[in-house]
Amino acid sequence: MAPQIITNTKHKAPANVNRGNIFEFLHSNPNKVDDNRPAYIRLDGKTVTRRQVYNDARSLAHAFRHRLGLPAGARIGILSPNSTYYPVAVHAGLCAGVVLVPMNAAYTAEELLHPIHDAEVEYLLCHQSLLPVARQGFQLAKKGLKSRNGQNRIWILDDGDDLKRGDQGEEDLRTLLSDHRLEPHKVTDDENTDAYIAYSSGTSGKPKGVQLTHRNITYVTIAACVTFDTDIGPDDVYLAVLPLNHIFGLAKFCHMAYYNGSASVVVPRFDLDVFCAAVQKHRCNIAYVVPPILVQLTKNPKTDQYNLSSLKWVLSGAAPLGIELSNEFEKKFPTIRVTQAWGLSETSPTATYTSYRDYRTYAGSCGHMVAGVEGRLVDDDGNDVGHEQGENGKPGEFWVRGPSIMRGYLNNKEATDDCITPDRWFKTGDIAIVNKQGYFWIVDRKKELIKFKGFQVPPAELEAVLLGHPKIADVAVIGVYDDSQATELPRAYVVPSEAAKSTDPAALAKEIVEWTASKVANHKRLRGGVKIVDVIPKSPSGKILRRIIRDEAAKEAKK
Ligand code: AMP
Repeated sequence: MAPQIITNTKHKAPANVNRGNIFEFLHSNPNKVDDNRPAYIRLDGKTVTRRQVYNDARSLAHAFRHRLGLPAGARIGILSPNSTYYPVAVHAGLCAGVVLVPMNAAYTAEELLHPIHDAEVEYLLCHQSLLPVARQGFQLAKKGLKSRNGQNRIWILDDGDDLKRGDQGEEDLRTLLSDHRLEPHKVTDDENTDAYIAYSSGTSGKPKGVQLTHRNITYVTIAACVTFDTDIGPDDVYLAVLPLNHIFGLAKFCHMAYYNGSASVVVPRFDLDVFCAAVQKHRCNIAYVVPPILVQLTKNPKTDQYNLSSLKWVLSGAAPLGIELSNEFEKKFPTIRVTQAWGLSETSPTATYTSYRDYRTYAGSCGHMVAGVEGRLVDDDGNDVGHEQGENGKPGEFWVRGPSIMRGYLNNKEATDDCITPDRWFKTGDIAIVNKQGYFWIVDRKKELIKFKGFQVPPAELEAVLLGHPKIADVAVIGVYDDSQATELPRAYVVPSEAAKSTDPAALAKEIVEWTASKVANHKRLRGGVKIVDVIPKSPSGKILRRIIRDEAAKEAKK
């Protein structure tokens, strides 16, 4: 049967998309916005103007090349919560043609080891509070703290008024600024030149480096702008609360908002009061959020203390959003519309989007395809379920194809070949249905990934950590949904070792929860608890049958 390809019927695929270095595209300023306008705004109002982003980025790029000795293609990690200088560092890397490796700011040193090692990270731009973790990460990777040309590997990334210094001589990135500016590195083969390596577990296993090219990012930026249409423009003021170290925040604030000439108010990390105070003070009109933020806004009466009237629109992504929650939110805030986008690190990320103008037409939908990107829904037998089925139609795995799909997983051809077909369809591992108009609803996940508040928790990675516990003989990790927080919580099913069989199950479960908390990033903690079991259900080949465990957990939750 021929594939039934679903496309965006309202917007044409962008034509003549810029080729080359994405830095030049991002600074092409299609809306002719004045250079003195703010691009990024600190909570206290201090701004980084568009001119400063451009000039500082080119100056830092010059230092990357000539002082740190980085050739194009070398990798720089970024380990920091959001700040107004984070995007400047990103633009500097793009200008120099180095590859940026964004890292979750909650990572432990052990979790840093893999990206440092796998992506051969040479330098790390790091928030001061994370210096000890960063140093330890390099040490675990058996790399000294000095680079080949004798420079400190770690540079402090900060937007404070004063330059920072680390107690082992690390210097503020801004000390590298000078009058020298690098001409943007010429990217001649943008389809094969990486701009980022973003870590994601994909459909299974441990985190893998998603290679996103200059072409991927340029295309998705322009395609998303075409699809967002009049929803966004240079006069918008965004609340940038999503982490810039995750592809969702990176793409929206470092690329799309900047390209459009909008300003972004940068929030270091989510806190309800900070969120509301920032909207009130800076009159933000758009906020990109994850569902747990919507829960807080909906359920917490504290919001009544703030004037949020400037906010016209919140866009939710990175995790499933229940229709009940968006209804409740809209009841409390009748003037604010909620829409959704869907995508993955591997799709750079936006693949579908519900427009502000389509609001309520397709309730609960994650939208239609981004212009120029194709979709298919495929069942377990490899047949397309098509889009004639209506909203109660047959679900299928969402496959996506287009110029925004990653080049592949770094150093992992096997995993790349597993998820990308020879004719370049990327199998996302999400299950969706679609209506006649081409609007999708995500209804389930075929892959094993767990998402805690939009952050990835790869079960295989947690299981590997847990197997290091002396009282655990076997283990499986799944996600259990918590309605009250609108998120999944990681839960472990544990078979105790012989020696631990007589331990009180409640005490053992508590011990394992606490032990895990000391070993992994905050978002990977076993908030869904530990269940002591006799056996983990497995296929004859030894694969954990997560579906059985998930069904059992769902049954138990209903009791
Ligand atoms: P990441 O690579 O961290 O962005 O994670 C991608 C995954 O997040 C997707 O494969 C989905 O499982 C989930 N996701 C992203 N956006 C949505 C959405 N709007 N609705 C449901 N799940 C989503």
